[in-house]
Amino acid sequence: MAQEEIFTQEALDSFRAEVRRWVEQNRPPDPGFVLPQTMLSVTTDDQFTYLRDWQAKVYDAGFVGVEWPVEYGGGGRPRGYQRVVDQEMSRAGVPFLINLVGLAWAGPVILAYGTEAQKQRFIMKALRADEIWCQGFSEPSAGSDLASLQTRAVRNGDEWAVSGHKVWTSLGRYAHQMILLARTDPDAQKHAGISFFLAPMKIEGIEVAPLTKLTGEGGFNQIFFDDARFPAERLLGQEGQGWEIALATLGFERGASDGAAGGRSDVYSYDIGALIELARETVRDGRPALEDPSVRDRIARFATEAVAMRFSRLRTRIPGLVADRPMALPLMAKVESSEHLQRLADYGCELQGYAGSLTKGDPAAVDEGEWQRFYLNTYSMTIAGGTSEIVRNILGEKVLGLPKTR
Ligand SMILES: Cc1cc2nc3c(=O)[nH]c(=O)nc-3n(C[C@H](O)[C@H](O)[C@H](O)COP(=O)(O)OP(=O)(O)OC[C@H]3O[C@@H](n4cnc5c(N)ncnc54)[C@H](O)[C@@H]3O)c2cc1C
Repeated sequence: MAQEEIFTQEALDSFRAEVRRWVEQNRPPDPGFVLPQTMLSVTTDDQFTYLRDWQAKVYDAGFVGVEWPVEYGGGGRPRGYQRVVDQEMSRAGVPFLINLVGLAWAGPVILAYGTEAQKQRFIMKALRADEIWCQGFSEPSAGSDLASLQTRAVRNGDEWAVSGHKVWTSLGRYAHQMILLARTDPDAQKHAGISFFLAPMKIEGIEVAPLTKLTGEGGFNQIFFDDARFPAERLLGQEGQGWEIALATLGFERGASDGAAGGRSDVYSYDIGALIELARETVRDGRPALEDPSVRDRIARFATEAVAMRFSRLRTRIPGLVADRPMALPLMAKVESSEHLQRLADYGCELQGYAGSLTKGDPAAVDEGEWQRFYLNTYSMTIAGGTSEIVRNILGEKVLGLPKTR
């Protein structure tokens, strides 16, 4: 039924009303503990279980993987429906979907490059958060220069044996599966010798060591592989095709490719509205800071930027603007939106005056230190998935045609 549904504004509006009603009636209860602001900072078992249960509930209601094929557990609806769900979840301020790596990066590349058996095996479990995914790309000496990675995978009969060291692995402690890049041919040119695996995490030979972040939260992990063995059919695509699949994955991660099963929205709950509220509550010289023309001017600038970014994002829906250079607008959006949020969070802390230096846990902190946590967390987005410098390099070289940096 859903697959044959015709895309009309009326159908979309009625779907939006359905989602809105469901979210209002099924808003999860207050957990009684502090939730992370993004899936990158899930630290405790309580947070993990709460967020995983929430995703399963949203999936069971039919609102995760709305556009993905029915045969793998998706909803089979036309393009545009998942965006409606994401918007409504964001509007309602309900928690994010924890399995972002599965929904937005691993799932789409499995659909694009996977065998039928791999799609059957992995997709539905990712949608329902029955299996959590993490991303094993970065290494201590391979971040921006990802193709320098040294983790080795060696084929032994029906198995791959992996040894090496990954770092900054978000959700690594809780993950069941990893999208893993490993070198399978050390003699080949560096990009050509890499393969892409759907690696199991709960096996012998894998050790997970959590790391603590700037915010004091967890989320990051180091992953040590010591002759970790898994079946040959865990290879995605062909041996040596890893770099191509990695670029496709980064296309999804950086927003240059469509196709996520949800969960992209509502990473932070802070926006212009929250900034205005803060300025209204903050007292300066006996008056709300919002009455100060210089404050109003700064807020107006943020609001103008936000509107400009929204319209700029809409341009990605015009085929003529993206056909030649599909990455251009999304990469611009990644840099713009992550740096905009960082400036906005910075200003939120600045507005608080002396209290701006008080962080989470300090009883005198404004809004329980959430603005400070937000500010520190915004660095995630200007680094993860390619730093702002790297994305600017790509835009310069690949879009504007400037000479290569090296
Ligand atoms: C919150 C968060 C979550 C993450 N989660 C994951 C994850 O789940 N899985 C995973 O694999 N990785 C993850 N990462 C790692 C992320 O992909 C890397 O941090 C990122 O690619 C940068 O690599 P690096 O940290 O090694 O920095 P480096 O590459 O060492 O860069 C250091 C600095 O040098 C600059 N620089 C480097 N090369 C150039 C150049 N050619 N031109 C100009 N400037 C340059 C960079 O912009 C940066 O400022 C995460 C990172 C963050 C912050």
